[in-house]
Amino acid sequence: MKQTILVCDHCQGPKRKDAVATLSLLNGRARGTSATSLDLCEPHRREIVNAFKPRGTYKSPKTGQPSRVRARRSQKEMAEFRKAVAEFVKAQKQVSNKMVCTKFGVAGHQATKVLAELVAAKRLKKQGHSAKAIYITV
Ligand SMILES: [Zn+2]
Repeated sequence: MKQTILVCDHCQGPKRKDAVATLSLLNGRARGTSATSLDLCEPHRREIVNAFKPRGTYKSPKTGQPSRVRARRSQKEMAEFRKAVAEFVKAQKQVSNKMVCTKFGVAGHQATKVLAELVAAKRLKKQGHSAKAIYITV
């Protein structure tokens, strides 16, 4: 007697398991006509059903890490950086642009920008020019 048995669509290789269920994916409109159906064994049926269930909010594994895409520092970070630089100047009595770069590991233009902002805010005084400029606490 020739017998046709339904085997699992998801099992790999020649030894497929017998299907225990047929799952159909319907879009709720075209009932029965354009359904995607899968014949599945029990482990694969569970796998598909689990994948189909909502699992709460998707959390990126990178959550908590600062994005590399964001090039600019946030206002809060800049304010904290300015404060740290101001305290550094106070502790050192006088600093150069280079000292700020070395201390905070920032590029020269960033140190210049923050130092200039502190000068503008009258928290620091600038003496000298360009590379030789030094900054002292007011
Ligand atoms: Zn299977």
